[in-house]
Amino acid sequence: MASKYQAPRGTFDVLPESSRARARVEAAASGIFARAGYGRIATPAFEDTELFERGVGRSTDIVRKEMFTFEDKGGRSITLRPEGTAPICRAYLEHGMQKLAQPVRFAYSGPFFRHERPQAGRYRQFHQIGAEAIGSDSPLADAESIGLLAELLTELGVPGVELRLGSLGSLEARRAYLDELKAYLHASEGELSEDVRERIDVNPLRAFDSDHEGTRGVMEGAPTIVERLEGDDAEHFAEVRALLEAAGVEYSIDPTLVRGLDYYTRTIFSFVCDRLGAQSEIGGGGRYDGLIEQLGGPPTPAVGWAAGIERLLLALGEEGETPAAPAVFISHDASSPEAGRTALALAGELRRAGLAAEVDLAGRSAKGQFKHANRIGADLVVVLGDDGGLQLRDMESGEQEPVEGGDLVAEIERRRS
Ligand code: AMP
Repeated sequence: MASKYQAPRGTFDVLPESSRARARVEAAASGIFARAGYGRIATPAFEDTELFERGVGRSTDIVRKEMFTFEDKGGRSITLRPEGTAPICRAYLEHGMQKLAQPVRFAYSGPFFRHERPQAGRYRQFHQIGAEAIGSDSPLADAESIGLLAELLTELGVPGVELRLGSLGSLEARRAYLDELKAYLHASEGELSEDVRERIDVNPLRAFDSDHEGTRGVMEGAPTIVERLEGDDAEHFAEVRALLEAAGVEYSIDPTLVRGLDYYTRTIFSFVCDRLGAQSEIGGGGRYDGLIEQLGGPPTPAVGWAAGIERLLLALGEEGETPAAPAVFISHDASSPEAGRTALALAGELRRAGLAAEVDLAGRSAKGQFKHANRIGADLVVVLGDDGGLQLRDMESGEQEPVEGGDLVAEIERRRS
């Protein structure tokens, strides 16, 4: 019978059969982060709403429409974190980390929340892994950061991946460019979608992201910031590109690339995968040299990215993997409490020796236990005799023999080697 309760719209349960693929993604990321000196950070799942309003930007879709915001019992406005960068910058400042050797490198993984319209690859609670390097304006930091995500995708074997690269220039250059873009958009206002028209003055860059036909037509002739880069910005971007080329990381320049968060400056990037549908981005990020200052700290350049774990799994086609089969199933006489105790103790002993072992907990008959061992794919079944003796059955050959000398672990290891 279907349960009366269901997971809330846009959320899902991570069931045991898909958690192995998740663990593989997390383990690959952990290894890459640790080897590159990115230390783990975990911030709360919720923060003061203002952190995101100031950090992510009041004109963004995230802040305007997608935050899970509520008042707590103390009357504070609280928001379930929609992204990880602003909280990490908050923590960086709160713990005085500007006094440490710079940059400070962080890695994270956890759930994030956005009230979006759910579809394949887009959820209201999703999981991201990410990396931030705070306190360096060097193009080396950009290349290092992009390289980490490229390495993760390669190590996991994600197929059909493409890296798109762009630059938004420094905050001042961006401002000048935005004035030019606004003027351009105002000149063709009539052809733009209502949403884009309403936001010309608050967030004109989003026009590049629109799928409205009229808007797309206008944007084909729009000035792009990549063409306008000059001085230090142009040099910075050229150096990031040269470093990626030297490292053998393939990319294409996308002059229309924009991101849904306001804080980006200079380098931005996006890894897309042709195996995903409309939500084709696996991960992306960029430089955010003005964010820490925006949050009340000293000017502090920084760069980072986040990748969606669900998108990675979709791209890998690994959502429904089965759990690892236990190597050993321990059958016992369900009517005997003593046999149950021995079976549990044996399972403990095998697990401590690094073997996967499972005990019947369903009171099955001897025959039922063998059937179950077969169903779950056990290689070996331990049979507890009434006299306390142990037998071992090889499920493939069907042969069953007593365990000589009673050393079960040694006997199993001998057979499995
Ligand atoms: P963002 O924080 O918007 O830059 O997104 C970074 C990555 O998080 C994206 O490339 C996606 O892989 C993932 N992501 C963002 N929003 C969602 C969502 N609603 N559902 C699933 N994954 C998401």
